[in-house]
Amino acid sequence: MEVATYTPEDAPVPEGVIVIERATTPQELGPKVSRTAADVVRFLMQQGEMVTATQSLSDDMIELFTAEIGAEIRLVDPGEEQEVELKKMLGIEPISDDDELGGADIGPIRPPVITVMGHVDHGKTKLLDRIRRANVVEGEAGGITQHIGAYQTEHNGHTLTFIDTPGHEAFTAMRARGAQATDIVVLVVAADDGIMPQTEEAISHARAADVPIVVAINKIDRENADPQRVLSQLAERNLVPESWGGDTITVEISALENLGIDDLLEQLIVVSELEDLRAPDDGQAQGVVLESHLDIGRGPVATLLVQDGTLCVGDPVVAGAAWGRVRALIDDHGESLTEAGPSRPVQVLGLSDVCDAGDEFVVAPNEKVASRVADTREHWQRQASIGRETSSALGGGARLEDIFSQIQTGEAATLNLIAKADVNGSLEALTDSLNKLGRDEVKLAFVHRGVGGISENDVQLAAASNATIIGFNVRPDRKARELAEQEHVEIRSYEIIYNLIEDIEAAIVGMLAPEFEEVVTGEAEVREIFRVPRVGAIAGCYVTNGVITRGSKVRFLRDGAVIWNGEIASLRRFKEDTREVASGFECGIGLSDFQDLKPGDIIETYEDREVPRS
Ligand code: GDP
Repeated sequence: MEVATYTPEDAPVPEGVIVIERATTPQELGPKVSRTAADVVRFLMQQGEMVTATQSLSDDMIELFTAEIGAEIRLVDPGEEQEVELKKMLGIEPISDDDELGGADIGPIRPPVITVMGHVDHGKTKLLDRIRRANVVEGEAGGITQHIGAYQTEHNGHTLTFIDTPGHEAFTAMRARGAQATDIVVLVVAADDGIMPQTEEAISHARAADVPIVVAINKIDRENADPQRVLSQLAERNLVPESWGGDTITVEISALENLGIDDLLEQLIVVSELEDLRAPDDGQAQGVVLESHLDIGRGPVATLLVQDGTLCVGDPVVAGAAWGRVRALIDDHGESLTEAGPSRPVQVLGLSDVCDAGDEFVVAPNEKVASRVADTREHWQRQASIGRETSSALGGGARLEDIFSQIQTGEAATLNLIAKADVNGSLEALTDSLNKLGRDEVKLAFVHRGVGGISENDVQLAAASNATIIGFNVRPDRKARELAEQEHVEIRSYEIIYNLIEDIEAAIVGMLAPEFEEVVTGEAEVREIFRVPRVGAIAGCYVTNGVITRGSKVRFLRDGAVIWNGEIASLRRFKEDTREVASGFECGIGLSDFQDLKPGDIIETYEDREVPRS
């Protein structure tokens, strides 16, 4: 009997680029490229992939098949095509080619939107706090500030908007979604430390976004501060300081001692004037979502940055796949507003759902259109996520530890990953940074991406797909940890993206540093919080596992996400100080600088033990 094999030259394929939606099925794909569903299924079967005609295909499968028949395709997210229609319904004009910056140069002058970036510990948070406090009159009602993701400050009659999440994670997450929310980047470089890896990353991000950089050389109060060295390091990276005849503005500051802050603000105003930032302050408001979360009392809350027009209470808005009528607008002082114009960040109540940082928002003609657009988007987003999750690697993958040996055999290695993070923004930043690693010898394949703690399900999936689990600000719970040990699944947790990238690069060249296996030594559940005069907050706990020892390293977890890291300062049993408390007993754990624990949180103590590499 003759075995029917697929012959690619069966029929000509349509000419030109064919647009194919992710997660399409053989039934839909076939006819688009002049083939039948059976052709697709048969071909994939020959490649060792068993799929049915109505099953969603991974990107790899679609590409493999279309390459085989010589069709030129462009993969789009489901809904991308529909998005054009939705925009029309909302009354948004598509941006024309000669209007690249979205018509940035029409309308009245608007405040600049500024993002602070730089290496960890160089003083970004301190600087943001300093600028913010400069304007707050202490003791007044207005002295209460709210962290809503951005704030505005006044200087010499000019208003400036600062994005309140330092670092490039947020910036990258926005850009990854096509949103440009920043006009100027303040690059903070500690004068005693100089340019470091994350400073370099920040420079690349600012350049990629074509955003002007103002350099704040911080910590000049330090004895070992060496601003000259920073200047030469900048010059080496093509950021030639003005004092050296270049055009990079640098300002020496001390966020700690409040030196040079006014000068920095003045320079930011100068740059903003040079950029001639303008936006219409009337008409349909549009902008970008900076942050969004679910508030138990108030429902979905989103901080929106208005970019065009004026947003008013009562407006029907669509933000990503959420919609609603604006119930209230709240500014960074917690005050209610009736409207918000260009460059103004506002917290919005009244949306149907939580949206994603980087989502666009726009005022719709009416509520009916708003809900229709949001529902359609939600449908397509679901489709897209199905496509991504079925996009598990074709063929086997390798774990971080054995990726090097796989490369050495000369095969193209695939590193299968499951990525979990505490919030959507960091998840996107994480995938974005990983995707950029792009090495020829290694392909990264995301088996799954999600927000939340590392669960048993994740471990099961990792075991099944031979993947490494990467946690960003999240940890496995006990069950997940036990299953991982049993199934030999590698879980790596990080709190700094740079460290993760470093590990992966090291793994690729076979130089993964000795692994420190973390051994969890004790686990306690918070039952109650007591305030003790002169001592502060004490968490009344029940030890559920192992032994809690005074002085051990500890982390606090809420729903699997790490909310604090440090050491146990004090440990008590029946009001007596004690050295350790074993499983099955109650104890009081003193909280030093972190006081924000709630009943139900988990306190986990651990030790690092070096594991010899095989
Ligand atoms: P970030 O990680 O970049 O946000 O850095 P932080 O703002 O958290 O600052 C890291 C540490 O440096 C903190 O202990 C700050 O108090 C300290 N710091 C920040 N700015 C200055 C400064 O101008 N001078 C000195 N001496 N210390 C500073």
